[in-house]
Amino acid sequence: MTSDFPTPAAPDGGAESAAVLDGNAAAGEFSGILASDPTDVSVRCGSCGVAQAFGQLQAYMGGPGTVLRCRECAAMVARVARTPRGTWLDISGSSSWLFSPTPGLA
Ligand SMILES: [Zn+2]
Repeated sequence: MTSDFPTPAAPDGGAESAAVLDGNAAAGEFSGILASDPTDVSVRCGSCGVAQAFGQLQAYMGGPGTVLRCRECAAMVARVARTPRGTWLDISGSSSWLFSPTPGLA
């Protein structure tokens, strides 16, 4: 089975050239897709269930896409890739994203 989604960087040596940064480094890539600042988001890992701030996720950048991994279990929680066909967003590795309340909409 093939996928149009670029292969994500892997923590086990799949993409040695990808630098591991904190999630804040990937905020720019995600802010172009999400309607709000991703650094205000709490993301729950779909693998281990730990909730962590976007900035606490491990960001793998410099590959064919930007990959966010759980800091507890290293599972992929989200990835984004920009291709000629469009921008791909995969959040299948997360179980929830909690966005901070918008002032005035409480
Ligand atoms: Zn996890």
